[in-house]
Amino acid sequence: MERLGIDEGWTLERLRDAIVPPSGLRTCSGPALHGLLAAAVDAVGGGPFGPQVRSPLFLGALEAVLEELALGGVSAPTLAEAAERLGPAGARLAHLARLIDDATGRMTRARVELAASRWIAASSVLTRGWPASVPPRRIELIAVPPFPPGVVGFLAALARAASSTERTLSVRVPITGDTGVDAALEPLLQAFEAGPDLPGVELLPELADGPLSEPVRRLASAAPGSLPTEALEALVAPGARREAAAQVDALRRALDAGASLDRCAFALVVPEDAAEVERALEDAGVPVARRPPVPLAVTAAGRVGLLWAGLAARGAPGEDLAWLLRQRLLPALRLEPRLDPLALLRRAGVRDGALGSEGGSSAYQVRLTAFANRSREAGAARDADAADRLLQAATALLSLAERIPRRGRLADLLEAWRAGLDAAGFWTALEQEPLETDPRARRATAREAAAVEVWRAFVRDTRAGWKAARSAGPEMDRAAFARWLADAAERLAIEPPPTLSAGVDLLPLESLDGRPLDFLGVPGLDAASFPRRAPPSLLGDEERQAIHGVLGRAAVPGLVGSGDARSPLAEAVDRWRLGRALASAARVVVSRRRSAGGAPADVVQRLLAVTGTPERDLSSRPIPLLAEAPGPAWAKLRLALEASVAPDLRTDAPDPVAAAALDEVGPAVWLEDARALAGIEVERLQTGAGLRPPGPHSGALGAAEVLAGVDARLGGSPEGPLSSTSLTALANCPFQGLSRKVLGLEPPEDGAEELDARGRGQFLHEALEQLVKRLLELGLTRADPATLPEDLVPTAIATAGREHARYAPTGHPRLWALAQARARNTLERLLRSGKLYPFAGLRPAAAEERFGPDLELPAALPGERPVYFRGTLDRVDRGEAGTGVLDYKSSKRRDRARAEVLVTDFQLPLYLLALRARGERPPFQAGWLSLRTLEFLPLDPDRTGPLESFLATDAATRSSTTAPNLATAVHALLAEPRQGLFPVRPRECGFCPLGSVCRISERRAPQGAEG
Ligand code: SF4
Repeated sequence: MERLGIDEGWTLERLRDAIVPPSGLRTCSGPALHGLLAAAVDAVGGGPFGPQVRSPLFLGALEAVLEELALGGVSAPTLAEAAERLGPAGARLAHLARLIDDATGRMTRARVELAASRWIAASSVLTRGWPASVPPRRIELIAVPPFPPGVVGFLAALARAASSTERTLSVRVPITGDTGVDAALEPLLQAFEAGPDLPGVELLPELADGPLSEPVRRLASAAPGSLPTEALEALVAPGARREAAAQVDALRRALDAGASLDRCAFALVVPEDAAEVERALEDAGVPVARRPPVPLAVTAAGRVGLLWAGLAARGAPGEDLAWLLRQRLLPALRLEPRLDPLALLRRAGVRDGALGSEGGSSAYQVRLTAFANRSREAGAARDADAADRLLQAATALLSLAERIPRRGRLADLLEAWRAGLDAAGFWTALEQEPLETDPRARRATAREAAAVEVWRAFVRDTRAGWKAARSAGPEMDRAAFARWLADAAERLAIEPPPTLSAGVDLLPLESLDGRPLDFLGVPGLDAASFPRRAPPSLLGDEERQAIHGVLGRAAVPGLVGSGDARSPLAEAVDRWRLGRALASAARVVVSRRRSAGGAPADVVQRLLAVTGTPERDLSSRPIPLLAEAPGPAWAKLRLALEASVAPDLRTDAPDPVAAAALDEVGPAVWLEDARALAGIEVERLQTGAGLRPPGPHSGALGAAEVLAGVDARLGGSPEGPLSSTSLTALANCPFQGLSRKVLGLEPPEDGAEELDARGRGQFLHEALEQLVKRLLELGLTRADPATLPEDLVPTAIATAGREHARYAPTGHPRLWALAQARARNTLERLLRSGKLYPFAGLRPAAAEERFGPDLELPAALPGERPVYFRGTLDRVDRGEAGTGVLDYKSSKRRDRARAEVLVTDFQLPLYLLALRARGERPPFQAGWLSLRTLEFLPLDPDRTGPLESFLATDAATRSSTTAPNLATAVHALLAEPRQGLFPVRPRECGFCPLGSVCRISERRAPQGAEG
């Protein structure tokens, strides 16, 4: 409640404090008071309010009620009497009376008081005459809402005392003239109207005097569109950044039209909107004079404090721990910047300290150690060392954070929190750093330093409160302490330092000081955000009525206004503030975001109606036109867009001003960069759509020396033979083949709790290999399945499990055990059902047999070069009836394997080629054994034709046949890559192992996009 005095610098509060004689009591609020309130709660208990009484939120609500009661002159016995009148429904009020009684007793003993209680004390001084401490004979004041009974009573007493001592008192009250908007003024206006005429005293309602004052005054009475105005602009933006840009563009236009910088302001309904407006102002080069307070929780220091408090209680989540280990505010724990802890934790499968923990070791210990061992086994020493360093840092962090006792008195928990942060270097971290040279970085550091100071002051005030209460606070566990601290932090904010130079104000709506403005911008003004709802009070409507019944007056009114205008006090005050600000400003821009709220706020809605002002929707234009760009960053974006986007790829209409301006811009580096980037995107889209051959940014590798290197890495020679997997990658998407085969990129590792499809497939393969080898060793491949030893499958699973765990993550031990059990079932079913032997008359003769690197598809036709292969045959079955080769398939995609033969699937054709090269006994059979369905899918002769022509490598046969041919398909597939062409032309991204990191993926050019 800010009140400016006119005469001799008096404000209403200063006048009050001058009138009240020194009491020797200290005024107290916030954390310092909450210690006393918590002691009262401890003594009286939670009663019907339950365990939430220990939370800072409840203590904040209790403080608010104490203030309200002080302003209404309501004592604890009055509450008790009102509770009695309510009967059984008065249980909450009765308990509140006991809490208030105990709390006020403690405050008296601790010699503290609420500032609010001074209004009543000042009023009673005035009833005894004009105090000598206030000498002026003429006093002029401005009074603005809220007007609780204590303030109204004080003004009434002031008026009587001034008049009786022949002084002059003028109380000016800014109004809008609309009953609904002015509802918050009603308590004061009614009190003065109802009182006697007092000579020398005048209450002066002051109407605003801006171009919007009449529309605001006649909000309820004017016909729609009857009061048109140029002074109001209304916008709907797609998001906060675009909204801020549009607001600052409006400010820029106002400044161009002669508005004075220090008479321009933005009023914020939601504090979070400040960042975007500030950024847009900075881009536009508009200086800011006053800034809103920054909530502590949005600063890094605020977040460090809160995460630290909850780390142990929440089982040390990986995200929180990783974030903390990167903070400059924790220098004793900070990891070197090159090590990304979160990525490493993901690879190691660490979610938090609990999931995967074993015995007394946390999951960090167990899984990071396992990851380091696996990495060493695979020769990745750097990964192993990084995991070791991360484990060391995580252990140090957890040992400090776990110093907060599992359970204890609040004072002890807070001290352990403070001390742990101290050991991590939090309180002095920024003092050790050199001064930043970049002004923006310096500002950010100053903000963090201020946030650290806010925490420090909070600890000091809280301790002082407990000391005054002679209490160590309530007892609670770690989780409750973390919640308590988060609740408390909601009320803490950093006050930005004042700036001496002129600039626009960026302030919360309640901090606008009422001076007339040349420009007012109000972003985020929608029905969901405005008017702002007050936090719920501990006093309900019925309880307020009961109190009024006992006292015979409205001591704690929850609502103000009358008729349709009646509304909760906080909302009425908000409406008055906005209405008054709108009515006083020479130019107003209100805006809201499409994503929030749904509709304009009620006051704005009526104002738009009476002025007939339409809302300008910016949703279809996410980048402002050049003429509307508030600063260079947006202007560059628009120019870059105009300069680079092909007509058929753009989503909005061209900007003729920007197109014309491009001629003037000349050869700017940023513009050339934009053009080049856009050209790259167009090239990729068109190449992917097959509209043009690959270029340098869409898979064409240029220089001759590069091509030679690529050829060597691509393989196909006896020294570097190809595999069927490489052919599949190249066939699915040449860019995938380039990434996997030439660049050697591996899919990102993610230490999941469960084996993924690839891991499950690999493990089943390994288990089947073990099983078949064992059958071969024991000479049991022709034995009746019913007579086979019981331990065959379990032994195969155990051996394969040990092997698999050596080089691959196996996830959570229980899920790993389940995966092994499932694999055991699959193998048992295969074995006992006889489906393990799908070729009639043939039996397994070898498993995991290697072939190559001399398996050759010779060059036979012009332009071809010999291609060499190597690989491993999953299984070879032999018998009098010939030779069979089997490929185990575990993924869903393999159900379509037959249709993909020589398209993306080359495995069985190469197996057949290998059988022929090895001189195996014909005829050959081949097929897939699905490990999902246990079904056998034979390689279909309808698709391959006779094997003689299918596997033919000589020019004559290949030229003369139209039937499918392996050599022709492989040579055709390799033709482009061998020229260094690897276009992004995916057949399917869904199964690509690079899908999660490939940023090109399946984007498509619009139909017919050839521009
Ligand atoms: S994700 Fe798609 S576009 Fe990217 S490499 Fe894989 S298949 Fe090609």
